[in-house]
Amino acid sequence: MKSLKTKVLEWIDFLLNQYSINNKQKALMDCPLYFKLEGFADEPVVYIKPTHEGLEFGFEGTKWIDGHTPSPYMYKKHTLIWDHVDDLSKEEQQQAILNILMKTINSRKRQYRKCQFCSEKVATEHRIDQNTCHSCASEHLGVVY
Ligand SMILES: [Zn+2]
Repeated sequence: MKSLKTKVLEWIDFLLNQYSINNKQKALMDCPLYFKLEGFADEPVVYIKPTHEGLEFGFEGTKWIDGHTPSPYMYKKHTLIWDHVDDLSKEEQQQAILNILMKTINSRKRQYRKCQFCSEKVATEHRIDQNTCHSCASEHLGVVY
């Protein structure tokens, strides 16, 4: 099986060649490109989004509106500004993007914990505490939402 790093590198190659994400003039602005963490928990996604400032990196999570209604939310983690992108060779760009993406992936992964009841890995926004997911909190602890 391919390592995560290898898959991420292949994705970066694809984005550089097909979407010219390293080129401010050619890249599609404000159009996020997603990478899914296949095989990990509920397979969360991280993204790269070319903006007028540079390349924005982050992950998609859930935000609770009024404490009840789930809504997808893009959590921005890092921006690689165009001036910096332009200073790098293509290989250096690849390496810089890889490093930031791996950091973004790892920070999202760290938000996941195993639920004490169902043993699923659950993201922070779907748990009531470190060890209990929302559905198990209802089922086992009688928490009402
Ligand atoms: Zn659970």
